Amino acid sequence: MTLSKAETPFPQGQVSAALLAWYDRNARRLPWRAGPDEAADPYRVWLSEIMLQQTTVAAVKPYFAAFTTRWPTVEALAAAEESAVMAAWAGLGYYARARNLIACARVVAADHGGHFPDEEAALRALPGLGRYTAAAVAAIAFGRRAVVVDANVERVVARLFALSDPLPGARDSLYALADSITPDMRAGDFAQAMMDLGATICTPRNPACAICPLRDGCAAARTGTTEAFPVKAAKKAKPVRRGTAFWLERDGTVLLVRRPAKGLLGGMMALPTGEWTAADPGLAGAPTEAQWRPAGTVSHIFTHFALELAVVVARGDAEGIWWPIERIEQAGLPTIFAKAAASAQSVDP
Ligand code: SF4
Repeated sequence: MTLSKAETPFPQGQVSAALLAWYDRNARRLPWRAGPDEAADPYRVWLSEIMLQQTTVAAVKPYFAAFTTRWPTVEALAAAEESAVMAAWAGLGYYARARNLIACARVVAADHGGHFPDEEAALRALPGLGRYTAAAVAAIAFGRRAVVVDANVERVVARLFALSDPLPGARDSLYALADSITPDMRAGDFAQAMMDLGATICTPRNPACAICPLRDGCAAARTGTTEAFPVKAAKKAKPVRRGTAFWLERDGTVLLVRRPAKGLLGGMMALPTGEWTAADPGLAGAPTEAQWRPAGTVSHIFTHFALELAVVVARGDAEGIWWPIERIEQAGLPTIFAKAAASAQSVDP
């Protein structure tokens, strides 16, 4: 960690004091957040934190409203059909989160009497709760002192301390620095204040340092190098995989399949596809022999690879789930297959 004397921010207690004073005036109103005099609801805090992983606040809001209307408690979610939860999650992406969501709700309902444990270590033992989420729920829902470090917090801390080690290797250093400025009291408000600062003022581009409550102690602002932080290691290009999505029509319905429970997009409804490989697989894996016609290509970036799916359409018959085309939006297709369905419908089979 590079931290010269000239770059050392102001005394650490002042970071939390300045930030909390700012938060008291500027906290964002968010549907899952308790108001100033309300107790936080652990179920809503947990649900929002899982949804917000890799996803924006704007994208999460309608899903959060739909989930909490349909399943207002963790017990209600625990009792839900897995397929109903997966369909309600469709479009939010990173579907392992949805499977863990159900698993976690069921553990909380069965093993904890419907109450989330109130300590970070016990939260961490629940399905789908890693270091960040367990800390966030412990701090925000239960007021425990916990070090909550998401991408926003990483950016703010890297700038405050002008940390020159590149991410992702610098993660432990950033965690230690975040720990050094986390107060014992109001840890939940502090975590949310850091997130709000990162989302609204200390943004990735053009941070608004002039109105930042931490300006006087910020090493990067002092040296005019804010956008140099956080330093990131050069990214490797993602490998490309190719596949074919088959849109097979019969009497106003289309053939769908449910993907195997394990693996990418596990348990989700989908169009039939063959293998996803480096070379174009052509019509390998087609559900039936038919006069397949091309209907464009759609693509999607997954965590470890980019997928290009050629879409082909035909009429015919095969084993599977025949879904009314006019209700295809309600099938719960994940984004890549929703794109493929839209592309398929632009061509007459
Ligand atoms: S002064 Fe600027 S760079 Fe530093 S924390 Fe505030 S907004 Fe971010």
